[in-house]
This record gives sequence, C-alpha cells and structure tokens, in this order.
Amino acid sequence: MKMIPRFAGRLLEWYRLHQRDLPWRKTRDPYRIWLSEVILQQTRVAQGLAYYERFVEHYPTVHHLAKAPIEEVLRLWQGLGYYSRARNLHAAARTISIQWAGRFPASYDELRRLKGVGDYTAAAIASFAFDEPVAVVDGNVFRVLARLYGLYDDISRTKTKHKFKALSEAHMPPQEAAAYNQAMMEFGAVQCTPQKPLCMTCPFRDDCYAAQYGKQQELPVKSKKTTKRKRYLSYRFFYRNGKLWMQERKQKDIWKGLYEPARIEAATAREMEQLLQNEAPAALWQQAQAIEQIRHLLTHQELFIDIGMLHLPPDAALPPFLKDGGDWFTPEECDALPKPIVIAQYFERHRHLLHE
Ligand code: SF4
Repeated sequence: MKMIPRFAGRLLEWYRLHQRDLPWRKTRDPYRIWLSEVILQQTRVAQGLAYYERFVEHYPTVHHLAKAPIEEVLRLWQGLGYYSRARNLHAAARTISIQWAGRFPASYDELRRLKGVGDYTAAAIASFAFDEPVAVVDGNVFRVLARLYGLYDDISRTKTKHKFKALSEAHMPPQEAAAYNQAMMEFGAVQCTPQKPLCMTCPFRDDCYAAQYGKQQELPVKSKKTTKRKRYLSYRFFYRNGKLWMQERKQKDIWKGLYEPARIEAATAREMEQLLQNEAPAALWQQAQAIEQIRHLLTHQELFIDIGMLHLPPDAALPPFLKDGGDWFTPEECDALPKPIVIAQYFERHRHLLHE
C-alpha cells in the first residue's frame, strides 16, 4: 500500500487550525481523560459535555469517585444509557483508589487490566496522558482511513481493527502521540463526517481514494446490524400512604442497578394483553392515571412502554407478584434514586398528580 506523503504533518497542521475547544483536551490528568472517554462512548459531545462537568465537580479525584455510593453515581449518569459503563467506572475507581493506593496505571497494558477499559479507552488514556505511541481507533478513525485508502474491510471485525490500528500507528510521529490521535478523531468528527464530508476544503483531497472515485457514502463498510429485539413493558407507579413502590433491577439485563416502578414484561403485544388480564388484576392496572405509551429505542432493543400512576387506598395490598424485592420511598427519595431516563422523565411530568 502506498502511504500518503507527509500525512501526520498535514493532519497536525489541520488540527491546529480546526480543533474544537473541549475541556478534556486541556488536561493531562489520566483520571479526567478516562472520565471523558467513558462518557463519550456512544454519546454525542454536546450531550457528554454537561455530564463530564458534573462528574468532575462531584468527584474531582479518583478517590472521590471510589468513595461515592454506586446509587449516587448511577443517578448522576442517568440519561446517558449503557449503565454498565458507570458501574465499571465506579469499580475501576475503587481498584485504583483502594488496591493501588491511588496510583493511576500509566501504560496501555496496565490500563487494559481495569474493569471496563477496552482497547480504545486504554489507547486514549495512554496516549493523551502519557504520550505512549499507541493508536486510538474509533468510528472516526475507521472512516478517515477507509476513505483515504479505499479499504473495504468490514469494520465490525476484530481483524480489521488490528489492521487499521497498525496503519494509524505507521503514520504516527512517536513524540506526538497525543496530538496525532486527537487530530485523527477530530478530523473524522469535523471534516470527514459520516454524511457530508467536507471534501472541497480537505487537505487530503488529491490523495483520497473516496474523493477521487466518489465512494464517500460506501466507506467504511460495516456489516448489517442485527434487528432489534422487541420488548413490551407495562409500568405502574403505586402510590400509597405518601410513598411510592420502587424496585431495583438486579438481573443481568439492561438498566442493572437502576430503580423502576412495578413492572409486567412480555415478549409480544399479545402476550402482554394476556398477562394484564391474568396476572395483574387488569382492573387495578387500568385504573391508573396519566397512562402514556412510549416507544424507547436502545442500541439492540426496541421497548414498547406503557406507564401510569396509580393511587392505592391506605390499606390496599399490592398485587401478589410484587411482594418480593421492592420497597416504599417518599417522592423526594424517589427523586434521588437512579432510574432509566424514560421513567425519570415520566415521573417528572406527572409527579404533581401525587398531591391531587
Ligand atoms: S477528501 Fe473527503 S472523504 Fe477524503 S478524507 Fe477528505 S473529507 Fe474525507
């Protein structure tokens, strides 16, 4: 493969002119870089920024994060999705703070041993904080290299990741690993964007395979996504004697560690109908106020949610299938519980009903 001449120099020049002003770029503190990278996985920068600032404010050091109760961390994470990221962040902070006496791992290999730290995050921290010459490969980097070199490898395969990593490292100036990696990612995010790459003003226009052959929309190649699994969830906020019944999701599933109101779940709409008739006393379930139907999309799942608020008389019993696991919380305590964003937002919209 013929390498693009002076690639790194031209890229770094572009970066100096076009980089966005983002807070985690101004620090070499591995803890803050780690926070920003974990928050930004599967999250847009505009949304991630507020979360990053909130986390840094609440937990200025890894020790603060390690000492925080997991419920508080999940509550702060609420709305970002992929809650396993927050649980892993917390577990890894405890490892660093308690087992390693606060010494942050300073190499790619050591970082990889931390819970939830994969290839991408380890490379980002190692290069941004310690200038270790290891390439970061995210969606931006895949796109830039695939288009520049006309690479049709399927980017969802591990083999492809190794190939792109090696290619990026072949261009990397060893003394400028941090700037080079940042520049690659920024170039993909700002110039070589997924839908409308700015080829007319691109410094690599004359070298770029995709621009030359009009293949920008075909590259990179990603094998077809699997269809989303459908789930049907019916929720009721039971409210009795000034308290709401909530339960923690403990199973290995979406939203582990978050709290939710009483739930009935089914795999099909038809099954849900039957469950509502048989298991939950349908009359009780349907007496709810403010029932809303919400379609909520996760990466691999499509949730059809039916949710409502239900006042119970002071001596009313809960449906038998809810006896285990849950507890009663005041509305204020309920506010502080970590909840899936779709449930938290519903609660915000309708909590005034509790006082009617
Ligand atoms: S010319 Fe267009 S497709 Fe090629 S790297 Fe530049 S922005 Fe991307």
